[in-house]
Amino acid sequence: MAEDCIFCKIASKEVPSSIVYEDDLVVAFNDIDPQAPVHIVLIPKKHIPTVLNLTHEDQKLVGHMFLVAASLSREQQIAQDGFRLVTNCNRDGGQSVYHLHMHLLGGRSLTWPPG
Ligand code: 5GP
Ligand code: ZN
Repeated sequence: MAEDCIFCKIASKEVPSSIVYEDDLVVAFNDIDPQAPVHIVLIPKKHIPTVLNLTHEDQKLVGHMFLVAASLSREQQIAQDGFRLVTNCNRDGGQSVYHLHMHLLGGRSLTWPPG
């Protein structure tokens, strides 16, 4: 738990959010500013600032995040049509919250390349 980290506060329920999935390792909740009909943010409970801070100890956690994202896509009925998983990193990547997270976006046709 990092002080003043909004996602740590969401994971600990200190800040309310619309949680769609939770287990021992991760929490998934609806984005407060959705960019698509389905826009879920998936975070590890452990505070890791960016993808650059991952270590070999986190390998299982990262694999678990992908499996949970795939499962959520089925639950949200976007698996077959398709979806996007995004992890922004640092300034040019557009990261605004420095607690590792994966966006699950779907429910519409997403353009490529991103802006
Ligand atoms: P980033 O820009 O770091 O890739 O993504 C951060 C995401 O978290 C943004 O899409 C933003 O809308 C979302 N977000 C930021 N603060 C909150 C919050 O307090 N509650 C929820 N549900 N989402 C948040
Ligand atoms: Zn945090």
